[in-house]
Amino acid sequence: MGEDVKGAGEVSRVPALPEGNRHKCQVTALPNLPLANPSNLTAAAQTLTGLLLYCRPGFEKECAAEIQARLQALSIEGYAKARPGSGFVVFTPYDPASLPRLYQKLRFGELIFARQLVFVQPQLTELPAADRITPLLAAARVQARQYSEILLETADTNEAKELSVFVRKFTAPFERAVRQAGLTGQPSAPRLHLFFIDSATVYVGLSRPGNSSSWPMGIPRLKLPRSAPSRSTLKLDEAFLVFLGNNPRNLSPGMSAVDLGAAPGGWTWQLVKRSIRVTAVDNGPVDRELLDSGIVEHVRADGFRYRPPKPVDWLVCDMVEQPARIAALVARWIADGHCRHSIFNLKLPMKKRHQEVERCREIIARYLDDTEVPFRLAFKQLYHDREEVTGYLSREAG
Ligand code: SAM
Repeated sequence: MGEDVKGAGEVSRVPALPEGNRHKCQVTALPNLPLANPSNLTAAAQTLTGLLLYCRPGFEKECAAEIQARLQALSIEGYAKARPGSGFVVFTPYDPASLPRLYQKLRFGELIFARQLVFVQPQLTELPAADRITPLLAAARVQARQYSEILLETADTNEAKELSVFVRKFTAPFERAVRQAGLTGQPSAPRLHLFFIDSATVYVGLSRPGNSSSWPMGIPRLKLPRSAPSRSTLKLDEAFLVFLGNNPRNLSPGMSAVDLGAAPGGWTWQLVKRSIRVTAVDNGPVDRELLDSGIVEHVRADGFRYRPPKPVDWLVCDMVEQPARIAALVARWIADGHCRHSIFNLKLPMKKRHQEVERCREIIARYLDDTEVPFRLAFKQLYHDREEVTGYLSREAG
């Protein structure tokens, strides 16, 4: 049994994938469907029948509700199958002819709960242990002429840890076979994904560089710096990468920032590392080494009341509070010109987590629209986020 998400937050049970969507080691082409931009995809890429979205285990309902809502906005109906705790969701449009449009229109960056977005063929099952390579290679061949990268992956679950040992061993021989088949080498080509459910069951698909995560399994491997005062530091490190990319212009030495809910200082540490001056606001103690850096001022105050004496470049906020209160606060900071950019964390202990994030989006958008402030707003559940998501809000040039 899978779960079908009818609209944002509305989940009901539906039967699992129809029999026709379970292929036993064979790759069958669907009727002739035009691909809008078939650059590098073969005509047989019409074997792609659905979307595979990786997510944090426990957030399948949110991921499914979100993809359903996004696609409804593109007038694409279908059903999402999501087993709780599995760490992935499969969305199958009722009309497979809509896949090429999805390939063009669906923006990975707009999805909050998906760590990765892969266009997949029907699941391959019962791969023979004696030769898994031949059917997998055949499946790879029918969807594209060339690939830029080959990724053999599993879900990010404890169950899949054992499986990942097998997958690691299988990677080298499979990559060799793909190279020998002449399927690699073009940097702008799609990435080939093999997503293992078990050693005999695999989703074969592709992702589009620039419209997907470039990290294997959608997970950035960031190292916890020894001198950082908390693990939370990785959240801000990842947030900068996700929202600003590798060489952000709006994050440079000499800038100024306010960190609301700063203690013990993991987020402040990331700013100091980039030579940004920080006012760390928290009634709790802030790491001594950070205070000794000479560019951190600790202010013991209520983060909801504090305002900087003059505008700063950045507001970062990791206070544990109701999401709607945080959303209203960052919107006011941007609207009143106290900062130009903001990264903030929304804690989601409630049941309707997707709905709650959408409510926060609405609060921010309404406030800034009413005050006629142009803005850019994005949310992502980062790998280092737990029961939470991270937001990015900036004031754009008018
Ligand atoms: N980002 C921090 C780090 O990386 O070390 C961790 C922050 S911790 C999750 C939340 C912090 O928010 C706590 O230190 C708490 O004291 C602070 N906090 C909660 N409500 C606050 C408020 N109204 N004003 C200021 N700080 C607040």
